[in-house]
Amino acid sequence: MSINKEQIRTALTHVFHPDKETDLISLEMIQDIIVQEKYISFTLELPEKNDKLAHSLKSKCEEAIRKFVDREAVVDITTGVNISLKRKLEGEEPAEDSSQQTAEPEQLLPGVKNMIAVASGKGGVGKSTVAANLAVGLARTGARVGLLDTDIYGPSIPTLFDIHERPNITTQKKLVPIEKYGVKLVSMGFLVDTDQAMIWRGPMVTSAVKQFMQEVEWGELDYMVLDLPPGTGDIQLTLVQTVPLTGAVIVSTPQHVALDDVRKGVAMFRKVNVPVLGVIENMSWFTPDDMPEKKYYIFGKHGARELARKLEVPFLGEIPLRESIMRSSDQGDPIVHSDPGSPAAESFLEISNRVEQALIVRNREQEETEKVEIKFRP
Ligand code: ADP
Repeated sequence: MSINKEQIRTALTHVFHPDKETDLISLEMIQDIIVQEKYISFTLELPEKNDKLAHSLKSKCEEAIRKFVDREAVVDITTGVNISLKRKLEGEEPAEDSSQQTAEPEQLLPGVKNMIAVASGKGGVGKSTVAANLAVGLARTGARVGLLDTDIYGPSIPTLFDIHERPNITTQKKLVPIEKYGVKLVSMGFLVDTDQAMIWRGPMVTSAVKQFMQEVEWGELDYMVLDLPPGTGDIQLTLVQTVPLTGAVIVSTPQHVALDDVRKGVAMFRKVNVPVLGVIENMSWFTPDDMPEKKYYIFGKHGARELARKLEVPFLGEIPLRESIMRSSDQGDPIVHSDPGSPAAESFLEISNRVEQALIVRNREQEETEKVEIKFRP
């Protein structure tokens, strides 16, 4: 017999908050239950970060599910922080409804018209290279563009834009983005010690990113490009719920392993109501700089294009693997700026153009992304 959500909810009514005489379901601490055969996932929301409590409640939840529902259930619990629970647990007022919870992200950046996340399932597929060239490409059209590098594990914007100085702080204690190639830049790499960043957890990243939104003099922007950390885990999920994204693009290479990650990425954005503007395939073929007419499909052909079709998301274009792209990135001068007439730059520029078009269509046909409340691990 297949498991259903109600059984999970009932089982979790047997798990009590240690300081309250109330169960987790009544306290609304369990959200977004997803059941796929024996695989069960949900979010355990806590009023604040508390690893010890999270750990103990997680094992109690697992035990309850195995005891009351299915011995062999595979349970995957993500913890999230929902500050409105604090008031509820303290008995001051009921948990806020979700429209109030999401009011905050709406106001994070009132001067930004479009916020685009650049995501990838894995590191090393060229996400940051794409984010940088996309931002510079959009700026070349005369648009006002910001690029926020939230990749705490390997912030690449300092390298990609050859920035070694620290940003200025205004007398109002606001950080001034560093402007280069027409793009306003802020990177975690400007401020944090990346060795320490390895131990950062989702809520810490989220609060740092919130600060980058609120405590930076971004001014008016037509586009803010957000370079997300690679992957589709808790950190990414929390992040994409924290900021009011207009849409997301997913970068992938053509091979099968990478494509699985695209699937997860699309699922993640769909679950949190963020429109996927499309998939970008990077390293589609290799062209040696001295044989520009050659195309070697070293990672397979059209993988991402076909997957995009299957997943019913737009395909935004292909970028070749070229030494010139890597060289310009290493030199801190993205190819769209350093050699805009080259075929490699043209592929990026075409993609920027498609992203722009996709945003126009998205803004015309869909409401603002206003509610991103589901927390799950896809
Ligand atoms: P990610 O952000 O996904 O980790 P990066 O953008 O940092 O990936 O790219 C990883 C490495 O691959 C970098 O050295 C970058 O210069 C290189 N690279 C990315 N895309 C291309 C490309 N199309 N052609 C050549 N080198 C590339």
